[in-house]
Amino acid sequence: MAAAFRGRAKGPAAPSVAAGASEPSSGASIVQGLRETLRGVGLRNTAPRIAVLRELDAATAPLSHGEIAEKLQDAGFDRATVYRNLIDLTEAGLALRSDHGDHIWRFERKRPEAAGTNHKHPHFVCVECGTVSCLPTASIQVAAVAGTPKSLRSVVDVQVKGHCDTCAD
Ligand SMILES: [Zn+2]
Ligand SMILES: [Zn+2]
Repeated sequence: MAAAFRGRAKGPAAPSVAAGASEPSSGASIVQGLRETLRGVGLRNTAPRIAVLRELDAATAPLSHGEIAEKLQDAGFDRATVYRNLIDLTEAGLALRSDHGDHIWRFERKRPEAAGTNHKHPHFVCVECGTVSCLPTASIQVAAVAGTPKSLRSVVDVQVKGHCDTCAD
């Protein structure tokens, strides 16, 4: 009984997780899921297409073609291939393409929240460093109240500009 208190714990006990025992299935099951997603919209499963979709899936902010191409450079996919696949994914409704005022198209995975509705989440653009980030849908609501144009109901993208957390410091 008292043995448990012997030696006075100096901090949180080290978790007894087998070190380095990474699941070999996790990477494979991610790819499997992406394949099913592509099949679901009638796109052929090609290695670059899966790689591009995987990058978009993992990203937490919209990425430019250049940024995605750079990430996939080591995998051996050239910029033209990456671009073509970004367009394919956008046309198939799996990705969104947007211009945040700097004339650079950025791509992001179309999340289920946006499916079939006009409720796209707003974006924050830093006026200092140009970083674009996604905001939660509920953070900013556009209301078509009296006095505003009817077109407010079909808003494509809401952008908020300011200083990002890094630049504000
Ligand atoms: Zn910034
Ligand atoms: Zn976004």
